[in-house]
Amino acid sequence: MGTRISIELWATDEDRGNTAIDAVLEEFRRIDRAMSPYREGSELALLNREASRRPVKVSRELFDLLEKSLAFSRLTDGAFDITFASVGHQYDYRQGIAPSDEQLAADLPKINYRHIELNPKTRSISFKQPGVRIDLGGIAKGYAVDRGIALLQQHHIDQALITAGGDSRILGDHGGRPWNIGIRAPRDRNSVVAVLPLTNTAISTSGDYERYFEADGIRYHHIISPATGRSASELRSVTIIGPDATSTDALSTSVFVMGPTAGLALIDRLPAFEAVLIDRQGQMRYSIGLQSLDQ
Ligand code: AMP
Ligand code: MG
Repeated sequence: MGTRISIELWATDEDRGNTAIDAVLEEFRRIDRAMSPYREGSELALLNREASRRPVKVSRELFDLLEKSLAFSRLTDGAFDITFASVGHQYDYRQGIAPSDEQLAADLPKINYRHIELNPKTRSISFKQPGVRIDLGGIAKGYAVDRGIALLQQHHIDQALITAGGDSRILGDHGGRPWNIGIRAPRDRNSVVAVLPLTNTAISTSGDYERYFEADGIRYHHIISPATGRSASELRSVTIIGPDATSTDALSTSVFVMGPTAGLALIDRLPAFEAVLIDRQGQMRYSIGLQSLDQ
């Protein structure tokens, strides 16, 4: 998945603990094989090659995750949109490449989650326009973390932390105490701006410092506004806390795109979720349920 995975758990027996860890790592590999846009043999790559021409039948798992992705698109007024990749694939953050304004103007209409058609009867997917591409980078890590936690539970583990990049989920507590999860300072790798004591919850952070390059004073990073095809620029970091990592992952990316006002308004009407934002000035902002932290 192009990211660092970490698994910490408490087990009464070392062999059992290691077996559980191996099972989670294998699950991550399996999900990556199915959902990576970069692997030619993945189901997702098949969709990007074929679904504009014909309906493509997919696994139940991918179908369900696509359905969920579209639900987040509707919930966020299109801020979360996996067809961002129709333009997004033209960015290369390592090489410092961004699409030109002309390229962007031509391809922007291909970003629209409504181009994706799901047929539950045949469990097939089609794209209504040529050139549409999808990428699950804003939700698949959270999904994998949730799958990993479910596997640990099957292995009778009840205290654990799984992290994949910016997405984590905590099972139980940490020997009778909460886990302390830090929120990184966006412009300083080595410092944290807040530490949250958490149990039995998921937490995701999206930041403009993960994958980016700078050119002419503009920071080109990996979170793309579907409305413009350019990097969303109102925030530096968004952390979402909630019951499952699939949702916190999708919502952290969404709120990043929506910006502080619309983003916090969304989180404040979802009772299960809270948010910590860091805006362009470095100012922290909290959802209503966390405002006691704002002192
Ligand atoms: P995260 O670090 O969870 O915010 O995910 C960032 C990743 O989400 C990017 O690397 C892209 O793969 C993907 N992404 C970028 N912009 C969007 C968007 N507007 N909607 C959905 N996914 C996106
Ligand atoms: Mg995310």
